[in-house]
Amino acid sequence: MTTDSGNWDWSRLTPVLPQYILEQIAPVPPPQTCYGPDTVPQRIRTFLWVTLHQRHLTNAERFRRHLAQSALCPICYLEDEDLDHILRRCLPARNLWNRVVPSDRLAIFLNLPLVTWLRDNLLHRQLNSSFMDGWDCQFAVFCWLLWKDRCTTIFDSESAPTEDILTRGLRLA
Ligand SMILES: [Zn+2]
Repeated sequence: MTTDSGNWDWSRLTPVLPQYILEQIAPVPPPQTCYGPDTVPQRIRTFLWVTLHQRHLTNAERFRRHLAQSALCPICYLEDEDLDHILRRCLPARNLWNRVVPSDRLAIFLNLPLVTWLRDNLLHRQLNSSFMDGWDCQFAVFCWLLWKDRCTTIFDSESAPTEDILTRGLRLA
């Protein structure tokens, strides 16, 4: 009963609840954690499905298919742009994870095989419960923002967000 942006979805609540109940709900903050697949916004769930199946059309993949002249990352030009580079090794990702993940866990976090890393963080909430509450959801939002920001920066640099991913990710999850 909440919108993708985390507010109460009044268009769904108003037709089915009496006014006095609506007035009681209004001052109550909507649930902010998104445990369970039904509460993760659809666009992020779609992104996660594509990510887990490694179907994103990265530069490395485009180069492999002869659709690009180079496999290099168009942000840092230091490594090929594959999913691992985008989500863990490129500068925006490093900057984010360095601030979020406890330093004694960082080496493991950054070096697990990519699919293991994704599954561990998305499916085994307890494993990283010491990072922050609702880590599975928070992790999904961070990964989605890393991908989304990259697309915006490359294809529409004028509208690239100026606020950092950590701030926006904490607000969205
Ligand atoms: Zn890069």
